[in-house]
Formats: sequence, C-alpha cells, structure tokens
Amino acid sequence: MAVFLHELRQPIGTLRGAGPALASRLGRLGIATVAELLQHYPRDYEDRSAYRPFSRFAEPGPVHTIATVTAQEWFGFGRMKTLKLIVADESSEAALICFNRPFLEKTLPVGSRAVVHGKFQFRYGEIQSSAFDVERLEEGRDPIVGLVPLYSLTEGVAQGTLRRLMRSALDMYGKRVEDEIDPELAAARELLPKARALASIHFPAAAAERESARRTLAYEELFKFQLGIALRMRARHSQTIRRKAAPGLLAERLIQRLPFSLTADQAKVLAEINADLDEPHPMARLLQGDVGSGKTIVALLAALRAVERGGQAAIMAPTELLARLHAATAAALLEPLGVKLAFLAGNVDDAARPPLLEALASGAIDIVIGTHALFSEDVVYEALQFIVIDEQHRFGVMQRLALYKKGNIPDMLMMTATPIPRSLALTLFGDLAVSSIRTLPPGRKPVITHLAKQENELKVYDFVRKLLAEGRQAFFVYPLIGESEKADLKSAEAMAARLAEEVYPEYPVALLHSKLKEEKKREIMESFVAGSTKILVSTTVVEVGVDIPNAAVMVVEHAERFGLSALHQLRGRIGRGAHQSYCFLIYSDDITEDAVQRLKALYGTSDGFALAEEDLKIRGPGELLGTAQSGAFRLLVADPLRDFELLKLARADAFGIVKEDPGFLTAAHALYRRGLETADKAKG
Ligand code: ADP
Ligand code: MG
Repeated sequence: MAVFLHELRQPIGTLRGAGPALASRLGRLGIATVAELLQHYPRDYEDRSAYRPFSRFAEPGPVHTIATVTAQEWFGFGRMKTLKLIVADESSEAALICFNRPFLEKTLPVGSRAVVHGKFQFRYGEIQSSAFDVERLEEGRDPIVGLVPLYSLTEGVAQGTLRRLMRSALDMYGKRVEDEIDPELAAARELLPKARALASIHFPAAAAERESARRTLAYEELFKFQLGIALRMRARHSQTIRRKAAPGLLAERLIQRLPFSLTADQAKVLAEINADLDEPHPMARLLQGDVGSGKTIVALLAALRAVERGGQAAIMAPTELLARLHAATAAALLEPLGVKLAFLAGNVDDAARPPLLEALASGAIDIVIGTHALFSEDVVYEALQFIVIDEQHRFGVMQRLALYKKGNIPDMLMMTATPIPRSLALTLFGDLAVSSIRTLPPGRKPVITHLAKQENELKVYDFVRKLLAEGRQAFFVYPLIGESEKADLKSAEAMAARLAEEVYPEYPVALLHSKLKEEKKREIMESFVAGSTKILVSTTVVEVGVDIPNAAVMVVEHAERFGLSALHQLRGRIGRGAHQSYCFLIYSDDITEDAVQRLKALYGTSDGFALAEEDLKIRGPGELLGTAQSGAFRLLVADPLRDFELLKLARADAFGIVKEDPGFLTAAHALYRRGLETADKAKG
C-alpha cells in the first residue's frame, strides 16, 4: 500500500539489524521512526566512482577496490591486541590494520568479499592502511560505488551502520512512498517521483542524479511551506473589515507640522501602508529600514488613519527606554493635533494604572505607546484597530499574537532595523507584505569606521579624547557586564572604572547595563541624552533606537564577539547629528575567520540590506531559520539562499493553486491536506 513519507511511523526497531541499543543511540540523532531515518539526509558524499586497485595506492586519492579476505592475524597483547586482515584484489595483496575494530573478525571471515576504500601506504614491507572503510559485499548485492553518503553521526553509530539501515529502510518501505505533489505540477517542474528521489538522495550513482533528487525534495519542502503561507494569507483575506472613510486629514496636518519633509522612500512606504488600510482585509506588513531611516514617523502617520476612523492604535517597543522615547516623540508631534496619548509600561505606578486602563477601555485614549505591558491580562481596549510592533524581532510569536488578540481584526505593522534578506523574508515572513526604506534622510554624514587591534587601544582612546575636547559624546561598548572566569575579556564594569579613573579623568563617565533597575537605567540614559554624561560605558543595551545627535563616537571593544547585525545596530547609534561620527571596532587576537569576515563586511559598507545578505552568507540560513521553523515544515534539504529560484517557483505555484481553487481544502487536493494537518499537529 502506498503511503506518504511522514506516515511511516514504524519504530526504527522494526528494521532488520536495528536492535534496542542501536535504536536508543539513533534517538540521540532525533531518529525514532522509519520516516525520520529516511529524512536523515546525507550531509555530504564521498566520491567512489573511480576504481583504483591496491597496486596504484601511491597515486593521489584513495584506493577503491573490491577485495577478498585471505587471512586474519592478531598482533600485540592484552588490550592492545589488534586484528590485521590480509586482503587481495586482482592487482595485489594489502593489509587492513583494524585498530579498535576487533568485530571485523566476525564480519569479514576468510573468503568473504568486501568493498575497500581508503588511503594506503607502503610500510613494513606491505601495502597497508589503518584508516580505511570496509563494507562486506553480501551475496547478490551491488557494491557501493558512485557517491557514498556521509551522515551526521552520534557516538556508537558508524557510517556503515547508517548506510546499512538506510538501505533496508529503502528496501522495505522506500518504494511505497507516494508522491505528494500533483502529477501535472510535478511533470511541469521536472520532479522525480518521490520514491526515486528518496533512494537517489541517499545512494546516487552520480552527481547529476543526486542533484535532481535534491531538487525534487527541496521543491516539495518549499512548496509545502509556501502552501501553508498561502493558506494563512487566504484565511486573513477571508476576514472582512468594514472600514469607515478616512480622508487622511489628521496625517496631512501632521506632515505640515513636521520640521522636515518625508523622504521619497518614506512617502512610498506610507502609500503602501495606506493602500492596505483601505483594503477590506486586515493588513500584515513588515516595514524594514536601517537604523535612523525614519520608521517612527511613518508608523505615527499610519496610526493616525485608525484614529481618524475612531479606532485606537497601540505601539509596542521592546524596552521601556525605547517606548518612552517614542512616547516623547509622539507627544511633541500629536498632542497639538488633539490626539489623546498614553504610556504604558510594567512599572507605571499603581495609582496611575487604574485610570489609565479605564481610559483605554472607554476609548478616551487614541494611541497608547508601551512595552509588553500593552498585552497584560488586565488591559482592555475599546477598539484596537492598529498595532505597531517596533523592533519586531525582539518579540516572540506568542507575544505578538497576544497583542493581536486584544484587537478586533487589527491591522499589524511590524518594524525592524535588521532587514531580512529577501530569500529568508519569503520563507519566514512569507505571509507579510514587505515595505523597505532604503535611503536615510538627507544631510547625514556617513560614519567613518576604523578597525583597530587591541594593542592599539591607546591610540583609539587618544583620538576619542580629541573628539571629546570638541564637545562630542562617546559610547564604549563591551561584551560582558562584569568580570568572568575568562579573565582576558574586558568588561563594562571594569572598563567604566578604568576609563573614569585613568583614561578620561576629566570627563563624567556612566555605566549602563541590563542588570540595573529600569529607574536607574532611565536616569543614566537621560543624563547622557542631556549631555551631562560625556562617556557612556555599556553592554549592548544601547543597541536599540536611542537617538542622540551629539554622540559622535562609538567604540566597541572585543568587536569580534558581536554579531554582524548587533555591530551594525551599534554603529547606527551615532551619525545622527551634524558632526562627523566615528566608529572604532577594536578586536583582540582571539578572532575567528567568521569574525574577520564580519568586521571586513562592516568596514566595507554601512548598508543594512547588504549586511543582512552578507550575514546570511557567513552564518548560513540554519541559525536564522532555526528558531522560527517548527513541526513538519522544517527545511531539511532546501536552502532558501541557494534555492532561491526554486523558492520563487514553489511560491508562485502554491499561491496559484490556492487562488485558482478556493475549494482547495475540501476537494481535489486532499493529498496536500493530509500533509498540512500532520504539520499542524506537530506544531501543536
Ligand atoms: P528608525 O527608522 O531607526 O526608527 P527614527 O524614526 O528614530 O529612525 O528616525 C531617526 C531620526 O530621523 C529622528 O530624529 C527623526 O526625527 C529623523 N527623521 C525622520 N524622517 C526624517 C526626514 N524625512 N528628514 C529628516 N529627518 C528625519
Ligand atoms: Mg526606531
């Protein structure tokens, strides 16, 4: 009977040669069922297409031959006793030194035949190897030639074991695996039958075969993923909102009051958002734009639409500090227009809280700005219609959802200063429309970036001294708050003391980190914003959203310890004012190749979009996708970066099907449905 791959839930123990001990070891690789085994795809392959007998051992590349065992010998004593197999192919005799592999005595008795692969040397008068791979040739079984799979392993599970198991799983179940993609579509996309693709990805005869197997499986993964997205989007589109007319007069008045005019990109993304807000369906849009690109004003202008329609808007930021800054900006711009604002964070004092909640519930507040407190259980909104989530990557899915649930089919605007490369955006945020602000407001001087070795720190400090003398303020950022066992790392605490006492005794220095009380943090930040503190020493808490035009210096020590996007964000803290700004990235000798690449990338460009692509290349999509994907829709084969063309194709196909066939879930494509249901269950 034909089955879908994910339906092969037979425990691994049902396979020939998989006893309880092996099954429990495989559990460590996340393999409990036949389906999971078959989806343990090779991480790489070894090319054994070239036959090379023992006599040609001295040529470059490994020997690869079929040999017969002619004798078994033992040498050494006690625990050092080692098996030596004498084997012969048509060309010569050779010796296999079986360190730690005494079991080969039983597997390869005299007279048995085996495929032997490995590097051989001439030593002690014989052609020998101790680093060889050997696989017994059973009667009637083809030797493994061509590309041999290499799997990720765990202790006690050898390549040979996995290969053997994989073969028996393919023999017993693999052939029955049914196609999930509609045959017509599969033909149009030149996909292999799934059963074939499975067999070929594990044991391809040649590179071309492996590639078409990989392509087939990758397409299927991407297609299912996109299908899920298309269905979610359709579900959203099936919700209708009756919108009141909103001529945009409030927004118009705000624009007239601004001390600057919107950049072309700001105007463009605002138009995109406004168009969404006139659709009869809820909006779900991601607004990405580099630090300082001016997202806040766009969000406020959009929120005014909801207010004009008599609704409420909530703007949520990840830290209290940032929320307060937004609240201050909003107060300056919107209160003169008669818009009623409120600020809500965790520690709004007890006395102020009830009337505030009351005002939110009665609709007396138009726009509320705050932190996670915005979705606290006791918070009720009269008519929450518009939600802005700033620095959205700092929130979890459940948190965003919690705020969403406070509204009545609200429109959602997510904002991020860490642009997501397009390939990942389609995977992670495939159901969001994306708007991008690519250019900064005019008049900003690009930040000058310097890379410096730690031994040159004093030169950096001297340079900074000149800038301080000119009246500028400086950030110093460290990877740790306090001392750690790794004594060679500078910490914010220790350096705050050193900078204050030794390096810049003439300037006020303050220390900021996440362990301080919110109240204290705010004081410190306010004193820096006001210009009384000249030097702010901190950890990455200054990362988000603070705008201080006079801070023209960013010194990051142990820059090798920070991620690309964190460094980019830090650098974005400066360059906001009229003065030339400088960013010093100080690195120590203890630097990895990846870190070198990161620092070079930062030195090379300040374009956040380019850096995001670079980050993806350095880190690979796994890490970025890892936390976001779950259940049966994990990408095991597909790589959104490498398979970007295939991804676009699969997306168009999936969206096409959902669009063409509104009865999609009920009738013809029941096949897909089964897959989706399983995925949903897995997601819980
Ligand atoms: P971000 O996109 O990082 O959230 P902000 O919204 O905080 O950026 O904007 C950064 C600064 O740029 C703010 O001081 C804001 O007033 C200013 N700004 C925004 N838009 C413009 C513009 N069109 N022209 C000049 N300055 C602008
Ligand atoms: Mg911002």
